[in-house]
Amino acid sequence: MTVQVGHFINNQHIQEAQRWSNVFNPATGQVTAKVACANEAMAKQAIDAAAAAFPGWSATPPMQRARVLFKFKTLVEGHMEELASLITAEHGKVHSDARGSVIRGMEVVEFACGMPHLLRGDFTENVGRQIDAYSVRQPLGVCVGVSPFNFPAMVPMWMAPVAIAAGNTFVLKPSERDPSVVLRMAELLAEAGCPPGVFNVLNGDKEAVDALIDDPRSESLSFVGSTPVAKALYERASARELRVQALGGAKNHLVVMPDADLDQAVDALMGAAYGSAGERCMAISVAVAVGDIAEPLVNRLAQRVRALKIGPGDADGVEMGPLITLEHRNHVSAYVDLGVAEGAELVVDGRGFVCPGHEDGFFLGGSLFDKVTTEMRIWREEIFGPVLVVCRVPDFKRALALVNEHEFGNGTSIFTRDGDSARAFASGVQAGMVGINVPIPVPMAFHSFGGWKRSLFGTQHMHGIDGVRFFTRLKTVTTRWPKGIREGADFIMPTMK
Ligand code: NAD
Repeated sequence: MTVQVGHFINNQHIQEAQRWSNVFNPATGQVTAKVACANEAMAKQAIDAAAAAFPGWSATPPMQRARVLFKFKTLVEGHMEELASLITAEHGKVHSDARGSVIRGMEVVEFACGMPHLLRGDFTENVGRQIDAYSVRQPLGVCVGVSPFNFPAMVPMWMAPVAIAAGNTFVLKPSERDPSVVLRMAELLAEAGCPPGVFNVLNGDKEAVDALIDDPRSESLSFVGSTPVAKALYERASARELRVQALGGAKNHLVVMPDADLDQAVDALMGAAYGSAGERCMAISVAVAVGDIAEPLVNRLAQRVRALKIGPGDADGVEMGPLITLEHRNHVSAYVDLGVAEGAELVVDGRGFVCPGHEDGFFLGGSLFDKVTTEMRIWREEIFGPVLVVCRVPDFKRALALVNEHEFGNGTSIFTRDGDSARAFASGVQAGMVGINVPIPVPMAFHSFGGWKRSLFGTQHMHGIDGVRFFTRLKTVTTRWPKGIREGADFIMPTMK
């Protein structure tokens, strides 16, 4: 019997829906579950729960809220293998990679455990004569999160722990492609003592998302996904006057300078381009080869791409698993066709790859293009699969300009032994996250994660201090206790006397 994946509202599983969507095991191609697609009434039920829980939760002392998250962190740690296996079963990525993503999410929980300190306000004595002022940060209310398929545990943990620790209540709409892991995390959060209604999971698609955004009780939207959806939801939610952070797609470049350590650069490119089958928003999808490093770089990469160990994510020694769906596999494969038609040099062709014993799985081999130019769609568009393109440029100046010409500005990196180039790159590049001899510069939980340009709509990045600012409103209180003397009405702007 196919498993039914429902919603989690008020700490209860709800298995109701008019529509259901298939969830696959990408390694076998088999349908393993059906996930409920919420309608407006179910979305309202989730918001009802979150709205009802808000007064009690926001009045709970921050230290007590933090203790719930602390317990949750220990439960996540204790269930690490189970959570990673749930990710591999529905996403396809290799188990060790899945585990790593849970750890990176858990680090945001650890950060959120410091909320009593992070929420601590400011106080100024005597802003005027015998007048004091203090500033506090207060929670928003019901916050909505919408997350993508590629990090089904980590991305929800970028948002919800910070929101909840700050005193908000939360409704998460995970990706319909791999919904199970976050439901398990919701159970663990309930086990940790999170009261009913504080964290709710509503499964579904556009219908559910639109209903959550349009509900007058929603206060904010945290979205992570593709740029067209990020932009559309940013506009919809802003028109509703919600606070919005909408993270979109990416095309991350790694610049390899002629003085770079070639072995290190090749290792870095392999992991960053083909890890998780390229389905990472911080994946490197463009290598920018500067000067005469191009020839040896492409040769070494080609050998390594041909030798990639591809297979089911739960098998030992596998480096790269399948893609999320057959449709997405075909979409990525069509980009390889397109690159050939556009005149790029296809050095390694992954289209014919078949995984023995898993012929129905959504596998694709790694592909490598050389001599790609900025007119080509395989440079301009996000492919989101195991396809690395190499652009050859004569010097650093052109490398930096090429990175900055792209419409996306999520992450980028430079490999060099030269401090001047590294510094000029970090200073001049238009991207939110920059690596120097670091291929995937995903900021730690206590820094903030976010891109520039069309990789982020809104002003605040996720987690870290930006996350705390996003999920709280600043209030400044000015206090005075005059004794007995009546001063009369003052019709001028108050100034210091
Ligand atoms: P997606 O945009 O298709 O879906 C993301 C979420 O939005 C899902 O929950 C989905 O159900 C929902 N959704 C989809 N279409 C919608 C619509 N029309 N209206 C309302 N909701 C809708 O993205 P995806 O395929 O799940 O994830 C891959 C994309 O996410 C890539 O573009 C990747 O770069 C991006 N991503 C970005 C970051 C980042 O930090 N910038 C992180 C991870 C993934």
